[in-house]
Formats: sequence, C-alpha cells, structure tokens
Amino acid sequence: MQAPLPLHRSPTARTERPRRGPAWADQVRRAVTTVAELERRLVLTPDERAGALRAERAGLPLSITPYYLALADRHDPACPIRRQCVPHLDESLASPGDLDDPLGEKDHEVAPDLVRRYPDRALLLATDRCSVYCRFCTRSRMVGAGGGARSLDHLASAFAWLAEHPEVRDVIVSGGDPLVMATERLVSIVARLRAIPTVETIRLATRAPVTLPQRVTAELVRALRPHHPIWVMTHFNHPRELTEAARRACTRLVDAGFPVMNQTVLLAGINDDATTLEALLRGLVRWRVRPYYLLQADPVRGTGHLRTPLGRGIELLEALQGRLTGIALPRLIVDTPGGMGKVPIGPDWIVSRSPGRTRLRTHRGVEVDYLDPR
Ligand SMILES: *Cc1c(COP(=O)(O)O)cnc(C)c1O
Repeated sequence: MQAPLPLHRSPTARTERPRRGPAWADQVRRAVTTVAELERRLVLTPDERAGALRAERAGLPLSITPYYLALADRHDPACPIRRQCVPHLDESLASPGDLDDPLGEKDHEVAPDLVRRYPDRALLLATDRCSVYCRFCTRSRMVGAGGGARSLDHLASAFAWLAEHPEVRDVIVSGGDPLVMATERLVSIVARLRAIPTVETIRLATRAPVTLPQRVTAELVRALRPHHPIWVMTHFNHPRELTEAARRACTRLVDAGFPVMNQTVLLAGINDDATTLEALLRGLVRWRVRPYYLLQADPVRGTGHLRTPLGRGIELLEALQGRLTGIALPRLIVDTPGGMGKVPIGPDWIVSRSPGRTRLRTHRGVEVDYLDPR
C-alpha cells in the first residue's frame, strides 16, 4: 500500500508579492514563463535548460503555476510533475508517425473553433490559454498561440451551427483550459450553449483541479450551477497531484452536482506502471472522481520521449483488472490518427469461440465456458 498522501501547503500562503484579486488569478499572473524564473525554482539539467530556451522562442510555450511547480522535485529530473511541465530538448526530436494535428481537428472544424467528429458530440475550443502547458499536449499546434479567450462574437457561428444541428446533444468546452477564463466569460459561453434546447449535456474539459485548484471557488460553482447538467472532465496523471487543495476543488464540484470524470494520459516513466496507476485511480475514487479514460498519448510532434508502446497500456489494464474495484477502472482508448475516432482497446478475455460456446479466461487465471441460450 501507498503511504498516505502528503498534504500540500498552499503556495499562496507564502507569496512574496502582494496579492491582488482572487488567489487563482494570482497563480496565473505569477506563473513561471521564463527560463530564468524556472532556474530559480529547479536545478535544471542541460537538456531541460535547452528545451526551456527553445520553448521561450517557439512552439509550445512554457507556463507553470507556482502551485504546480511546488509539487515538483527541485533536484530530480525524473520527477513525474517536472516531466509533465518542464520542457526538454527531446521535444525537438521526430518520431515515426508524428503529426502536428494528430486528431485531424482542423479538417473536422464545422465552424471557427467548433470541431465535430461524432454524430452526437462537438468540441468547442473556447480559448488557447492554459495555466500550465503540458509537454504532451494534443493541441500544441494552437495552445498559447496568443488569441486568448474567444469572444462571444467570435463564437457566434459555432452557436448558430449547434442550433441548426439538433443531433448534437453533448458539447465539450475545451481549449486551452476554459477555467482560465474570467467567470463572467465562461458563464456567458455556457449560458449561450444552454439556451440551445437540443444541447443536453455540457462538459467542461479542464486541468484546473490539477494545476490550479484555487480556481474552483464557491463563486464559480454558484455561477455555473444553474446551467446543469454540466460534467467536468479533468486530467490527473499521477498520485502526487492528489493534494489537499485538489481534493477540496473536486469535492466542491461533486457536492454541487457536477459529475467529475478523469482522463489520464499514459506517459512513459511518469505513470506507466501498475502501482502508480493503482494509487492514482484509488485516490480519485475516494474523492468521488470517476476514472473515465486511460488514454494512449496522441502522436503529437515532439512527444515521442513521453509516449508508451500500445502494448504497455494493455498490459497495465490486464494487471489492474480484477485487482481494482470496477468503479476505479477506466477504459483504455486510442484516439486514431487523422481524427477517425476513439477506439477502446484492452486485453483479450475471449480464448475461443464456437457456435453457442465462448471460452473466457478470468483475472483468476482460469478458463470458463459460457454457453449461449438455445
Ligand atoms: C474525444 C472527443 C469527443 C468525446 O468523446 P467521448 O468518447 O464521448 O468522451 C468528442 N469530440 C471530439 C472532437 C473528441 O476529440
């Protein structure tokens, strides 16, 4: 068993500069965005320094909230927090099959910043900003590009498209991180979606509970609540992210009726082992956060050093099946290149099939015949 999780001391309690506005805005304003600042907090390796210098100039920018950076180990370059957010020179390497837009989102845009790849769902890219830029980001082609939060005017044709397509019942508001927007702007987008009678569920895809838990204020929850059903899709990748502040954020959401679902990305050397995943998944379920997907990392250019072979996820799921309560077991998903859709994969539990009879193996290592009804 894992040792109890360390309680995280809120970094806002030891702010050097005077605080203006809410704690979360202060975290965003004080986010580390330069190599010089990063170097004050961490002892960088030459490859990290070179990667950070590169990120300052081009490509996916550097940004890390003081809160998230405080979870990183100052000296250990293998630290799972550090590897998620500190740039590395390996980002300049190419891997076979790498793509700038692995999910073909540009090709599936039906209105500016509205992506539609499934009959009943659509994805609204409401901003290009995040509080922390994850080094494995699927949308590194666009995040941090400088547009910031999209105005209601800019999104008007997306709303009009949704109103004309009643078959789309589920809208995922993503980006960037929609929770990095001001509350009024976020609520006005959600209210515009809610005003479309055929939109049944709204999902907010956000890493704020992980990288900026101060954002989940009582005020935010009060402002969003009237627009239920809103599901929150979050993105914890490692048990070290399960801090007291994150627990408060998740609990506040769940208590206010937001189902909170978690999507973990499998990352090489960060969470691709059964012990780490078990601690993470069990921790989430204790907070009433449902592990939804375990995602094979998308083949984004410059992320080969963070990706696992496809077989690794299958082995991990096999190890966890039966060992972990069903409510803690996510589905393993490959989002196929070119935007052809998500495919659930996993260990094969069927040994053989003949008419009326299927031979299954169970997690106990036995094989059992299942007979169809006549
Ligand atoms: C992943 C994704 C969805 C949501 O898929 P679910 O399996 O329903 O969670 C919807 N639209 C796009 C474009 C996506 O990439």
